Amino acid sequence: MSDFEFDRQHIWHPYTSLTHPLPTYEVASAQGCTLTLADGRTLVDGMSSWWACLHGYNVPALNAAAQTQLSKMAHVMFGGIRHAPATRLCRHLVDLTPPALQHVFLADSGSVAVEVALKMALQYWQSRGAPRSRFVALRGGYHGDTFGAMSVTDPDGSMHSLYKGFVAEHWFVPAPRSRFDGDWLADDCNELDALLAQHHAEVAAIVLEPIVQGAGGMRFYHPDYLKNVRALCDRYGVLLIADEIATGFGRTGKLFACEWAGISPDILCVGKALTGGYMTLSATLTTTHVMQEICNGQAGVLMHGPTFMANPLACAVACASIELLLSSPWQSRVQAIERQLRQALLPLAAHPAVADVRVLGAIGVVETRQPVDMARLQAKFVELGVWIRPFGRLIYLMPPYVIRSEELRRLTDAVSTVLALMAE
Ligand SMILES: *Cc1c(COP(=O)(O)O)cnc(C)c1O
Repeated sequence: MSDFEFDRQHIWHPYTSLTHPLPTYEVASAQGCTLTLADGRTLVDGMSSWWACLHGYNVPALNAAAQTQLSKMAHVMFGGIRHAPATRLCRHLVDLTPPALQHVFLADSGSVAVEVALKMALQYWQSRGAPRSRFVALRGGYHGDTFGAMSVTDPDGSMHSLYKGFVAEHWFVPAPRSRFDGDWLADDCNELDALLAQHHAEVAAIVLEPIVQGAGGMRFYHPDYLKNVRALCDRYGVLLIADEIATGFGRTGKLFACEWAGISPDILCVGKALTGGYMTLSATLTTTHVMQEICNGQAGVLMHGPTFMANPLACAVACASIELLLSSPWQSRVQAIERQLRQALLPLAAHPAVADVRVLGAIGVVETRQPVDMARLQAKFVELGVWIRPFGRLIYLMPPYVIRSEELRRLTDAVSTVLALMAE
């Protein structure tokens, strides 16, 4: 059986069927912003492997960090043991995130970081002798695929009905209507306000993605929304969990998207780009106040501890990625990408197949009127020499920050070409 057939018959890919599999393309290597297929074709990467590969692929500084750490130890348990890569990484995270966030829990993936955030909030209230078990989340949000994370992910666009009775039922408020690039609509928080006015004593936390709702629709909302949510959390005594797993490390033009609103959450999740896209690692940070309540409670401990917690190899690469990012002109790179995306994509709004075009930082989104035929478009993109993976009604670009202007042009030209085909 060929590798192609074995993959088709035996291996699940994200969100796919094995009886009706979507086509896959074999990548043999990747370098800079180029993916090289096994058949020798090269593709310009427009996805950063789902928000992760900020610096592109096969990055010398990250390779060196992995190799150096590998020669010392790939892994060691974190129970009763500490090691320099974890300490150094957590120093960076405490330094870079809002000053109130002082305590770090290292976890395996974005979804697990969200589970840990939910547990922190639940234990916080438990410890105070006033248990609360509801979360409030936004429609159009996405927080991961594990059960806790799914329970705060948009209930319509996702898997709530499939697992009904098993996914905890929380409360959802409408997605913000105020666009990032539009006016602040003062009534945007009214439902949230009304919900909290009535039920705040049951609500452990509000969970949201600051500024960019990612996998749930690639929408960018107004910083005043975030400011108002923070104010409502303070007024009603509810914790705020910010999921920056997609937005963290500069993607929106700020190091963290919360900076657009100048707010500080009580709990913050990071992941995806944390290791520059090299391996899976995530972190959940919280304040001294939340930490102390948890640790003074009945359990006395935070009830989580994954086998591969603080994997040294991942921590060493994460340190190298953060240090590389901070020593690079990342802000001007993201700004240049934003300018070029605006120039190339905004005119596409006039296209009859297009419902909306929006750009923020190094993210460009073309929303179509009809759902796209993913397999057909994907094949076309590959033919055009680019790696762009649309879903639903979204064709979007989020390239590595190191992409060159000519490479970015290849990506935006491919989007225009594919739109012209869609009109046929
Ligand atoms: C991708 C993502 C997650 C889940 O992270 P995984 O590493 O895929 O588990 C959670 N929240 C947001 C905002 C994400 O974009």
